[in-house]
Amino acid sequence: MFGLKSSSGSGRDGAGVAGGELRSEVEVMAVYEFECKACGEHFEVSVPISEHDRLKKRPPKCPKCGKSRVQQLVSSFSTKAPSKC
Ligand SMILES: [Zn+2]
Repeated sequence: MFGLKSSSGSGRDGAGVAGGELRSEVEVMAVYEFECKACGEHFEVSVPISEHDRLKKRPPKCPKCGKSRVQQLVSSFSTKAPSKC
């Protein structure tokens, strides 16, 4: 069968699927706490777990002063460090 026009048909199908199917899976959100080194503001950023690596490379800007000199604070759930006595 040479009736199939695969070249024209595949273009539309491929483009439409890209964003839609991800909605079936529930994204787990994690809240990360940051401290602004410029003004001392503490703020939280909630991102999907899948975005965590991107957040490390590109830290968010401070909502107060707008600078990106922020440091991520250790979240209580992510690490179980022994408490200093
Ligand atoms: Zn700030």
